Formats: sequence, C-alpha cells, structure tokens
Amino acid sequence: MSYSRCVDRSYLGLVLLLSLLAKSATAADLELWRLDCGEMVIDDVSYFSDTHTYDGQSATISNGCYLIKNGDRLLLWDAGIARDYLGNTESRDGWLSRIRVTIEAQLEEIGYKTSDVDFLGISHFHGDHIGQAPEFAGATLLMHNAAIEWIRNNPPRNARSKLAAWFDGDSAMTGFDRDHDVFGDGSVSILVLPGHAPGHTGLLVRLPETGYVLLSGDLYHFSSEIGKRTVSRWNTSRADTLASLERFEGIIATLEPIVVVQHDPADIEKLPTFPQSAR
Ligand SMILES: [Zn+2]
Repeated sequence: MSYSRCVDRSYLGLVLLLSLLAKSATAADLELWRLDCGEMVIDDVSYFSDTHTYDGQSATISNGCYLIKNGDRLLLWDAGIARDYLGNTESRDGWLSRIRVTIEAQLEEIGYKTSDVDFLGISHFHGDHIGQAPEFAGATLLMHNAAIEWIRNNPPRNARSKLAAWFDGDSAMTGFDRDHDVFGDGSVSILVLPGHAPGHTGLLVRLPETGYVLLSGDLYHFSSEIGKRTVSRWNTSRADTLASLERFEGIIATLEPIVVVQHDPADIEKLPTFPQSAR
C-alpha cells in the first residue's frame, strides 16, 4: 500500500469517526415535553365508536401537545384548545372544553418563547388540535397534503380562521404525501394515518435514552381501544381508519414504543410530568 493511500484511509477513518460523534451528539440533544393543552368533559361519548362501544357513557378526555427539541430546533406537535377557553366552565351541547394554562406560559416556564418554535406539526385540523396555532405563525406548518387540500377546498370555518396565517397569509407551510422526516435525521417522523380526518397523522419520536415514543393523534381516543378496531362514528373513512389501525399496531409490535393516546388521561403519566422531559 502506498503512503498516500494509507494517509487517505486514516483520513477517511477520522472523518467517519467525527461524523459518528457528531451524529451521537445530535442524538443526545433530543428532548420531549408533554404539554397540558386542556381537557374536554363530554356528556355522551357514544360517537367515539360506530359499533356502540360507549353507548350511554360520558367521559373527561385530556388534550396533549408535545414539544420536541432537536439541537437548536423545536417542533410543537398539536396546538390544543384555544386560549379563549382558559378557565371555561360553560358546557355547550353537552361538551365542555377548557384549558388551565396556555402553551405560551408552559414554554416560558422552560425558557422558550412561541417565536422559538421552528415547526408546527398538526395531527389534523379539528378545533381541539389547532386552538393555539395562531400564536405560532412564525413556525413552518407541517401538514399532510390531503389536509391542506381539504382546508383549501372545503374550508371548515374554525380551521380556516385558526390557520389563516398559513392559508391566507405568508407563513411558511410544508405539505407531504408520505411520512415526513421533520429534522432530516430520522429522529422524528410524522406518520400518515388517514381515516379520522383528511390527512390525519401521528408522530414517531426516537429518543436516545427513552427509546421510541409513538403519539396517536386521534386514531384512538382511549388506549383500551388498541387492538380492538374501534372506529369513531364521525371518522371520514372507516376503511382508511382500519388500515391506519393495522399499521399503527404493526409499529407497536415491531418497535415496542411508549404509546401515547393523546386524548387518554391515563396515558399522561407515560411521559415525565412537565416541566420534566423525556430524553
Ligand atoms: Zn381530538
């Protein structure tokens, strides 16, 4: 072997080692917080199942939002119930929505401002997932193209007003058809899980210490539904929902993640209590 080739090889080895170290440094700098984005007290939850699982039942369900830090970039996953519902006690049509703290106040508690958020990922455009979105107009909205098209063509009033900065203003938006790698390093992927609403998605996070965390969006409302093929009566497609359930449960089987059903209060304790984070 010539001297120059030997030098080339050791140089290449050094470059590989440095890139591996850089990658592990990035991987170690991942952090996930579960934020309190409200709760809903619902007199009749029968519409959470088209096979009459919940007939005659009421429930209080939680709203989780999630902040993920990757190096110096931040993703907010879902934007919860609007701040107008801070301390709300008024039930409308058997449905009481309330928040006890804003996302902004929670970010402040851990040293961030709303303008620090780079990406706003929305599982779907229902009101309880986009309520505080206007506060994040400086972030790039990440949304499945089917959701973008739906909002453009059949504008649900609430979605159009809460997301006006992106749909009627000049805030940045990235649409995608397939799973979307948020930071480009495989650590956080938005998963295409249609059926509940057009372009519905979930989130898969790979944390260096905790391992995989899988966030459901509204594919389920209670973790007891996993494996039971429960489909909400108001889902836009039963067939798509079943396919998404099959995929989601396939991921559970292969990756054995911490599975968080975002609306299930029983799942809150699966992640550290705010302001603590999972790493
Ligand atoms: Zn929801």
